[in-house]
Amino acid sequence: MVEGPSDTFICASCVDLCHNIIRQEKKRSGGVKPIFQKIPTPRDINEYLDRYVIGQDYAKRSLAVAVHNHYKRLSHVDTADPDDIEIEKSNILLIGPTGSGKTLLAKSLAKLLDVPLAIGDATTLTEAGYVGEDVENVLLRLLQCADFDLETAQRGIIYIDEIDKIARSAGNVSITRDVSGEGVQQALLKMLEGTVANIPPQGGRKHPEQQYIQMDTSNILFICGGTFSGIEEIIKRRVGGKNIGFSSEGAGEMESTEARTELLHKIAPEDLIEYGMIPEFVGRLPVVSTLGPLDEATLVRVLTEPRNALCKQYNRMFEMAGSELAFTNEALHEISRKALARNTGARALRGVIEDIMLDIMFHLPDPGREGRYLITDSIVRGESVASPGPLSERRKESA
Ligand code: ADP
Repeated sequence: MVEGPSDTFICASCVDLCHNIIRQEKKRSGGVKPIFQKIPTPRDINEYLDRYVIGQDYAKRSLAVAVHNHYKRLSHVDTADPDDIEIEKSNILLIGPTGSGKTLLAKSLAKLLDVPLAIGDATTLTEAGYVGEDVENVLLRLLQCADFDLETAQRGIIYIDEIDKIARSAGNVSITRDVSGEGVQQALLKMLEGTVANIPPQGGRKHPEQQYIQMDTSNILFICGGTFSGIEEIIKRRVGGKNIGFSSEGAGEMESTEARTELLHKIAPEDLIEYGMIPEFVGRLPVVSTLGPLDEATLVRVLTEPRNALCKQYNRMFEMAGSELAFTNEALHEISRKALARNTGARALRGVIEDIMLDIMFHLPDPGREGRYLITDSIVRGESVASPGPLSERRKESA
C-alpha cells in the first residue's frame, strides 16, 4: 500500500492499472506506431535462428515463413481499410521430442522480433473453476513481460508447452489423462481464435469485485509445443505402412529414428484429432512443424556452436578467473553420449557438464589453481582429474 494525503491509500496492483491506463491514453493521442520499421524476411529469420538453434532446418524454415506472415499481417491490420481482405492469424504447432529445441525456437523468435514472450505449460492449466491455473494467467505473464504495456503484449508470443498432454483420452489409449483435457482445449481455443480476455491484474483466481485488464488475443502469436509420443503409429496407419509398430526388432536404432522423423513430416490434421485434440483446436493451429531428435554429432555442435553455447559460457567463466578451458573432440563426444543416455535431448547437456565441472570450478579461485584446463574423455568418464597446465601464448598476451 502506498499512502497518499488525508488517509488515502493505493495498492500496487491499482498503481499498475493506472499506469497502464495513462500509457494507453498517451499512445492513443500519439497515434499507433508501426511495430517494425521493416519486417524481417523469412531468410533473415532463418539466418538468425541458425545462430542459436542447431539442425531442425525444416522447423526453422516453416517457422520463418509463418512468423514473417504473422507480423506482415499485423502491420496490415494497422493500416488496412476495413473493407480489405482480412488475413487470418496462423498459430503454430511444434512437434518434437523433449530437448530438441522447441522452446528455444520460440525464445529466439521473440528475441529477434523484440516482442514479449510468455511460456506456459498446458499440464498446469485448467478450466476456470477447477484447481490449477486459469488459462488467463499466461496472458498476465505476457503482460508482465511487456512491462504492463497492453499494446506491446497484444503483439507478443505465447509458447504453450506439453500441449499433447491435454489430448482427450478417448482418442489415444496411451494418454492417461481424464476427459478434463477437453475443457482446457476449449479454454485455450478461445484465446487462439482471438478473444478479449479479462485478466485479474494480480493473477490467481477471479472474483466478482475485481477490476480486470481487458486483453485482446487476436494478434498474439501462439506457438504450441508437444512430443505427441506415439503419433507416428497413427500417421503410419493412415499413410498405409506395412507393419505397424516401430521399435520392431530388426530395425536399427538409427533407421527407426530417421523413419520416425520422416513419418512425422507427413502429419495431417486428422492424425492430431485421432490423437485426442479437438478439431476446432487443430483448426486453429494451421502451421505444423516437426523437429527430429538430436544425435551425438548434433549435440556436439550444440555444445560448441550457438552464440551462447555451453562451452563458450564455461570458457568465459574460466577467462574471468584468469584461466583457460578447452575440450578435446573425444571429450565433447563423450559428453554427448552421456547426455543421450539421459533421454532428454540437449537439455541433459548442462547437467552432464555441470557434473564434470563442479570440482574444478570449486577449486578454481584457490591460489595456484590458475592455468589451462584441458578436459579429455577420460576426465568426462571420471577416470582422471583435471589439473591446470601452463596458459597458452594467446591467453598470456590477452591477460
Ligand atoms: P524442448 O524441445 O523440450 O522445448 P528446449 O528448447 O527447452 O527443448 O531445449 C532445452 C535446451 O537445450 C535449450 O535451452 C538449448 O540450450 C538446448 N537445445 C535444444 N535443442 C537445441 C538445438 N536444436 N540447438 C541448440 N540448442 C538446443
